[in-house]
Amino acid sequence: MRQAEDELAALREAGLLRQLQPVEEDRPPLLRINGRPVVNFASNDYLGLACDEELMEAAREATTRYGTGAGSSRLISGSLSPHLDLEEHIAEWKGVEAALSFSSGYATAVGSLGALLGKGDVIILDKLCHASLIDGARQSGACLRVYPHNNLQKLERLLADNRAKLPAEARLLVVTESVFSMDGDRAPLVEIVELTERHGALLLLDEAHAVGVLGPTGQGLAEELGLQGRITFQMGTLGKAVGSAGGYLAAERRWIDLLLNKARPFVYSTAPPPAQVAASSRGLRVIASARGRNLRERLWSNISTFSKLRGTEARSAIAPLIFGENEPALQAARSLLGAGYLAPAVRFPTVPRGSARLRITLSAAHEEEQIRSLHKNLLTLS
Ligand SMILES: *Cc1c(COP(=O)(O)O)cnc(C)c1O
Repeated sequence: MRQAEDELAALREAGLLRQLQPVEEDRPPLLRINGRPVVNFASNDYLGLACDEELMEAAREATTRYGTGAGSSRLISGSLSPHLDLEEHIAEWKGVEAALSFSSGYATAVGSLGALLGKGDVIILDKLCHASLIDGARQSGACLRVYPHNNLQKLERLLADNRAKLPAEARLLVVTESVFSMDGDRAPLVEIVELTERHGALLLLDEAHAVGVLGPTGQGLAEELGLQGRITFQMGTLGKAVGSAGGYLAAERRWIDLLLNKARPFVYSTAPPPAQVAASSRGLRVIASARGRNLRERLWSNISTFSKLRGTEARSAIAPLIFGENEPALQAARSLLGAGYLAPAVRFPTVPRGSARLRITLSAAHEEEQIRSLHKNLLTLS
């Protein structure tokens, strides 16, 4: 039998071993590591809502009222009002008929793709799509086709070829992120929407890193481009800028009814705790409010400060510094940590082999001075 130690040794040898770094909370964006303050440039809590007094109060109220656990799947013991409120709010916010929430974004992707697609269907994914989308696509039993990152010619070819050979009842779905999680660049969404419409395909858009960051009310890239009404499935997580945990898919009622019947992580898993769900609802409300707009402006001012210092384009809250090999990326992360900055070295299989990187994320909670001194430290790395 293969021994676990041998596998771990091989991972270490390849610079691919992962370990947990114990941290203590401090006032965001600070953490403490071994008692020392460290500025957190690793979190996806882009607006600093994960430690927001309003969200914490919503979670406390929900716990007092409903207890800590939901008790079972919502199909078994009924649906508590925080879950229904959250979904109603998401549907209204996204301007669609309905939404379904899940325990996490991961569960949303796996559950939705598994329920919507099956054998005989085709899923076309961007090469850089998140692991949750790939896992969902694989588990669905549909045929998987991948196009090179943001390559519209290849996407169009795949759409045309598959449409031509698929029987009329088969589903053809294109899956993309709006802001890509490890690169921070955006999908050419206008063109992707036009292509899917022209070829009669469905479109699933994962707004994980765009919600709270893009769009006049923080809904994401689809809102920024005025495209919400033309996207079949709008997906997102509640664990990043929303400051809580969970995920959702928003769509027409018939699709949501189908998910509710068939999405296995929804049907066969205990509903998320009321506190988590209430905090998510409050997070979404804050994002759409005047305070949310102020936080978004702060975030964008930080993004702009950092990209000016680095001489790069301001595209999103995610800034990758590509090293290529694992060891230099790990060394850079260690030396930054020594200087008081937390930014992870992201390696295979999270990113393709040979593209190991530091993934720096900016937040509304950062002070300009923290960003300037991070930049000074980055200059000493290469
Ligand atoms: C983080 C992420 C998810 C998963 O969301 P969780 O709520 O963390 O499970 C899905 N898609 C993308 C693009 C992500 O970055």
